[in-house]
Amino acid sequence: MVPEQWSTAFEQRQKAWLRHRAPDLYASLLSWWAHHGRRDVPWRLLPGGRQPGPDDVLPTYPVWVAEVMLQQTRLAVALPFWRRWLDRFPDLASLAAASRQDVLHAWQGLGYYARAQRLHGVATQLAAAKRQLPTDRAGLERLSGLGRTTAASIAATVGNSADPILDGNVRRLLARLLAFPAPPRQATALFWTMVELLLNGRRARDFNQALMDLGALVCRPRAPLCRCCPWQRHCHAYAKGIQQQLPVRPTPTPIPRFVVGVGVVLDRQGKVLIGQRQPDGLLGGLWEFVGGTQEPGETMAATVVRALWQNVGLAVAVGPELLRFDHAYTHRRLSFVVYLCRPVAGDARPVVNQQVVWVWPHDLHRYPFSAAHIRIIQALRERSGQT
Ligand code: SF4
Repeated sequence: MVPEQWSTAFEQRQKAWLRHRAPDLYASLLSWWAHHGRRDVPWRLLPGGRQPGPDDVLPTYPVWVAEVMLQQTRLAVALPFWRRWLDRFPDLASLAAASRQDVLHAWQGLGYYARAQRLHGVATQLAAAKRQLPTDRAGLERLSGLGRTTAASIAATVGNSADPILDGNVRRLLARLLAFPAPPRQATALFWTMVELLLNGRRARDFNQALMDLGALVCRPRAPLCRCCPWQRHCHAYAKGIQQQLPVRPTPTPIPRFVVGVGVVLDRQGKVLIGQRQPDGLLGGLWEFVGGTQEPGETMAATVVRALWQNVGLAVAVGPELLRFDHAYTHRRLSFVVYLCRPVAGDARPVVNQQVVWVWPHDLHRYPFSAAHIRIIQALRERSGQT
């Protein structure tokens, strides 16, 4: 159990302690990072692959793309997406000139598609104004979708500025170092003070990366590797044997669950009906098979019939079930039940979607879909013998 309650006096003691230990924490962290850190991350290297020196300036665009990808994605997952993105949109001008659909297609599989739309929106706005990406934290924070941590991380990576970061890894690390007795997000201002004390106005490129690497590789969410940790002798949580219990988690809010009926409608030729979501809102601009949420007392087949009639003005006959699966989003869980259908009356038209089209199943890969609907495409391919 966490033994001490968070109070103003506790904060003052922690700040004094950290101020005293900061020089050693800083030095031991960078020493550890020199041997064990992730020093080959491509957007943190100079063109040609050399490590940057303290006065080198890195290109902003690749760092900006990478940091937005990393907002909700681990580095190992983001890396291949980043490489493909840079091949497809190598600079701000090529991104600004791309269509929304091409941008979403390049992001497909990475999730949280609003990030791709914001990258595209910023690129088009800057191109229209004939401006480049800013390189300082304040200028970056004014761009859509960039909070203090992402802006600071870009500024420090590009120009080695004195901007510390505070992402989820760093919060967890500090919460354990201090044996912080409350959820870290309840003390964001204090945690920013802590990283500022640690950095102490020095240049932050290596320091920020070292903090993130220590959090990701050693002070891991589960089973922290305390025996390998350069901060072990300073760590309050380790000394008290409570590192597995920290950080304190906020009381979880219940996540609602919905059942969604989806119709994969195939016409006489074998073409399949898909609709494009409106540009704004969740999964905006992505394509989908038409469906709707089951209402109380409704059978799944009735849900599919109603959804297709309401959303695209098409009457359908519901055929065999294609698949069912669960898919979790941040704030809700969806259970999908997917049926093959055939049209019996009406012409499909966009009522809820911005457009609807009939396409050959082998052309579905040309359209950007969310992860849930990619599962449906895969099931459709397996059923028809395609791989
Ligand atoms: Fe995290 Fe363990 Fe290091 Fe403490 S000693 S900072 S709990 S890895």
